Amino acid sequence: MRIKGFQGTSLLDFPGRIASLVFFGGCNLTCPYCHNPTLVLDPDQYPDYPLAALLEELRERRSFIDGVVVSGGEPTLDPELPLLLREVKSLGLQVKLDTNGLAPKVLERLMAEGLLDYVALDVKTAPARYGKLHTGPVKIDALPASARLLIEGKVEYELRTTCVPGFVEEADIRAIGETVRGARRWVLQQFVPGHSLAEELREVEAHSEEVLRGFAGVAGGYVDEVVLRGL
Ligand code: SF4
Repeated sequence: MRIKGFQGTSLLDFPGRIASLVFFGGCNLTCPYCHNPTLVLDPDQYPDYPLAALLEELRERRSFIDGVVVSGGEPTLDPELPLLLREVKSLGLQVKLDTNGLAPKVLERLMAEGLLDYVALDVKTAPARYGKLHTGPVKIDALPASARLLIEGKVEYELRTTCVPGFVEEADIRAIGETVRGARRWVLQQFVPGHSLAEELREVEAHSEEVLRGFAGVAGGYVDEVVLRGL
């Protein structure tokens, strides 16, 4: 199992809950603004975190945490992810999955098995522009399929867009909106340039608050609730 990191307690990553964080190595995108570049580009520089030790940590914490956030990298790439989630659920803990949504069949299986309590689905730009997020080919129909699973399903979720200049402009918000029409919650996050995977993005100026509020107004025409984060 490609677990590369563990953080005992966080109040931030699982809305309304106290959680431990588990990080998987590897990703099927190389987003230029990724904030975990080493986990994505060179995950093998970190040793795998042993499952037994992780479960022991969670067992010791379960009286004061509500759940576990599974993040990365991209956790759905690991064929052993369901095994971990079954163990976490058997401890009576909730699970939040952070995913880029490019593996809708995995998402569907995890939802069907009742292994997810909350999903944060990244919607990075207009689906037709996903090719800009990777050096290899990207299946552009995968993200809309994952979004529909959540919109039509029963698991609590949020869609999440980091508003990176050049990747997220008003036309992209409209194109994403058409894809996720009817969703419950769409979070628009401010872009923080430092630590970006691509050097040229580290100096880029983030969109102003006024621009993000304009995006929120547009997004509100497609979904029930828009949340601005990081302003
Ligand atoms: S999908 Fe997430 S983890 Fe993967 S490269 Fe993009 S931002 Fe980084």
